Amino acid sequence: MEEEQREIRTDICSSGKEKPKSDQLEFGRIFTDHMFLMDYSNEEGWHDPRIVPYEPLNVDPSAMVFHYGQSVFEGMKAYLTPEREAQLFRPQRNFSRMNHSNNRLCIPPIDETFALKALKQLITLDKDWIPEAEGTSLYIRPFIISTEAFLGVAPSGHYKFIIILSPVGAYYKEGINPIKIAVEHDYVRTVKGGTGEAKTGGNYAASLKAQEMAEEGIAQVLWLDGVERKYIEEVGSMNVFFKIGGKVVTPALNGSILEGVTRNSVIELLKYWNVPVEERKLSMEEVIKAHQDGKLEEAFGAGTAAVISPIGELVRGEKHLEINESKTGPIAKRLYDTLTGIQYGKLEDPFDWVE
Ligand code: PMP
Repeated sequence: MEEEQREIRTDICSSGKEKPKSDQLEFGRIFTDHMFLMDYSNEEGWHDPRIVPYEPLNVDPSAMVFHYGQSVFEGMKAYLTPEREAQLFRPQRNFSRMNHSNNRLCIPPIDETFALKALKQLITLDKDWIPEAEGTSLYIRPFIISTEAFLGVAPSGHYKFIIILSPVGAYYKEGINPIKIAVEHDYVRTVKGGTGEAKTGGNYAASLKAQEMAEEGIAQVLWLDGVERKYIEEVGSMNVFFKIGGKVVTPALNGSILEGVTRNSVIELLKYWNVPVEERKLSMEEVIKAHQDGKLEEAFGAGTAAVISPIGELVRGEKHLEINESKTGPIAKRLYDTLTGIQYGKLEDPFDWVE
């Protein structure tokens, strides 16, 4: 309670930067005029929340984050509604996941309500940066880095919690396009007991090699479990769904899968529509068998960036599994239209997901 009441000091920049044109927008290269910052020390806890002009950080080269990667991050978006209001999609889930990641990385928890208040204040200040063109949005990157100047391997005694904002272009510029995926056998993203269910930089560093090794035309890799290399976990940085014999199946959360906000929203929507949905172990063999039997109807990834990304082809060594003739299936399309409709305030939100 006390934290919620805390004032956020604001230092407004004297002259704003030039905003990019809608057709120049990429992902994550341009940042708005301001950022939110808050410091942590063992003595003072989280303190000095402030919104300041966007600028480089002054961090000691021995800061622990540079050496042992004790850091977490989040990713979400603000959308402009037809009434030109800024709207967030289930942001509490991101801050709650951030605390889950914090716990795994021995980072002190943040006050989730206060973080959301700070984010809303920052977005209000930089609202003119939310792009208007169809499918564009303002990407939000909250993150925490360990800043104690010390080379010992131990939890840091100092941290910075920062939120930066970046206007981003539409993910699908020419309509939804099913992607080609390679099943990854050599590398694994993480293992049970590791950090897979936390959103920490190291997981993403560890994922780069598989993508680099993948053949041309492969958009993402399908991660299998790290022990038996048998069960499906995620696709690239998305959760994954398969429609098999009329049921939608997604791998159950098992300690190495990241719990996506989009994943949860997809499951909720399918239940709302009375489409059978199962969270369970799903082996690659089962998917191949379903394909052979003509029962693999659709496959798609789900995450904040693409919302829904249909999978048109799965590549596994010499084998190529074409799914739904490499076309976007009806469930993927309905989910995409409904989720984006709710996010952009164009469809009714029966779940109270936007705020
Ligand atoms: N898995 C991984 C590894 C991810 O990085 C992401 C993106 N945050 C997701 C799944 C999807 O999560 P969300 O729907 O919350 O974006």
